[in-house]
Amino acid sequence: MATAATPTPPATPERLSSYNPATGEPIGSVPIHTQADVDAAVARARVAAETWSGRSFAARAEELTAFRKALAASADELAELLRRENGKPELEALVEVMMALGHLQHAAARAEAALAPRRVSAGLLANFRATISYHPLGVVGVIGPWNYPLFTPMGSIAYALAAGNAVVWKPSELTPLVAVKVAEIAARSFALPDLLQVVTGAGATGAALARAAIDKIAFTGSAATGKRVMMAAAERLTPVLLELGGKDPMIVAEDADVEKAAEACVYGALTNAGQACISVERVYVADAIHDRFVEEVVKQVRDLKIGGDDGHLGAMTSPAQVAIVKDHLEDAVAKGAQIRTGGPDAIAGNFIQPTVLTGVDHNMKVMRDETFGPVIPIRRVASIDEAVKLANDTQYGLGSSVFAGKSARRIAQLLRAGMTSINSVMGFAGIPSLPFGGIGDSGFGRIHGDEGIREFTRIKSTAEQVVSIPLNMMSFRQPTDAPKRIRGMIKQLYGDGMVARAADVWRKLRG
Ligand code: NDP
Repeated sequence: MATAATPTPPATPERLSSYNPATGEPIGSVPIHTQADVDAAVARARVAAETWSGRSFAARAEELTAFRKALAASADELAELLRRENGKPELEALVEVMMALGHLQHAAARAEAALAPRRVSAGLLANFRATISYHPLGVVGVIGPWNYPLFTPMGSIAYALAAGNAVVWKPSELTPLVAVKVAEIAARSFALPDLLQVVTGAGATGAALARAAIDKIAFTGSAATGKRVMMAAAERLTPVLLELGGKDPMIVAEDADVEKAAEACVYGALTNAGQACISVERVYVADAIHDRFVEEVVKQVRDLKIGGDDGHLGAMTSPAQVAIVKDHLEDAVAKGAQIRTGGPDAIAGNFIQPTVLTGVDHNMKVMRDETFGPVIPIRRVASIDEAVKLANDTQYGLGSSVFAGKSARRIAQLLRAGMTSINSVMGFAGIPSLPFGGIGDSGFGRIHGDEGIREFTRIKSTAEQVVSIPLNMMSFRQPTDAPKRIRGMIKQLYGDGMVARAADVWRKLRG
């Protein structure tokens, strides 16, 4: 197991180096783009967007399919870059490529249906034809994180492109090479080489993109940086989509299958070394099965291999994140948590041994703040009501999971979160038709699904008068008895007139 810490990148003014967090070796470098570079990329993207938005859905789907196939043909190269830049094992890197391609395929295939104009009831104005239509925004800025450097940004990029926009993408400074590779492939695949561009650099380049003349910004990262992005975007009233962190709870009820719940918990908490916004961050287990569940989790965790190409857990991507995890573990231990395996002393360089804690409570950082590391804090609960109350005791609200028998769906509905998996973990992220996003400090807006396609459009409402009627409300030329007629209509339609009463009965009957 390598234990090298990532060195601080040299302060060269014009280039940024990317390092392998498992070995500390530099693996490449990228330019540091300035505000002027970002503005120029946005201007080029705007030209591309004008042509792209005018293409038919079928024509766009054809080019997106060519892009997807070119990415699939480079799957090994992309996975290798992910492995080297991010530190994840080969299998996880390949799964990430596969999931990203799944979203690209879904968005291309679904865009036309999701954005089809919809006729809606015109209500009282029955002589009107009322239609909702969806139109591309123009240029979308995407700021991506380092934990899933391909899958996460693709959740915005694929949907924004499919909706008819051009994209300028700023990857994390820790994982820029995979983005540069994707941009190269995009430039070859699309007839418009500026349709998907990548700008690189550190936080300042991201800030430049948030300030640029774009039509929407989709950001994934911490709540603190999300707020900064939103403030920068406010200058131009640029709409924002924020996919921020989470503190996802898992509830295991008395009638759950303990072994399956433990297996899912171990995966959900430790995949990508726990560096997932939807990873299981805290577990509430019914008293009757608590001890058996903990024993099973510890047994399964001890079987995992850390480090190496075939390891289950790789290196932590960012040394700063290692320090956060260590701090959470030390805080928990100081406040009385018991270490069942791993612990703050089992950290070597960028590698953290997966840690199981019991005896945890909500005064500990590990139960309140996003740990974003391979840690499973398990808390015993006396009832499902207590589990739900504790699960909802958070400023976040991204994912969540429930393991239970008959009561599972009821418990799921009680969880205050954007997404819930029942008898599985993270299932919602693998289903492209389900919208993905959170509430509270986990952000707002949705990627994936039809909502994720519409997120990158502007909504237009059209009211078309198809026949004229005598009482035209949109005119000053009214009959003298118009006030009397309106009084009668108010009573009939909305008060206790016969029409209103009949409508209420009808609504009640329809449920
Ligand atoms: P950040 O939120 O700082 O970074 C996310 C992205 O924002 C990166 O691309 C980063 O670029 C960019 N960025 C940084 N500063 C600015 C800015 N002022 N304007 C625009 N973009 C900016 O996350 P960290 O890497 O610092 O991680 C901190 C915490 O965030 C983690 O501990 C974890 O809890 C959470 N996190 C959540 C993720 C999620 O999936 N929801 C993903 C990653 C982190 P650069 O890397 O170049 O600085």
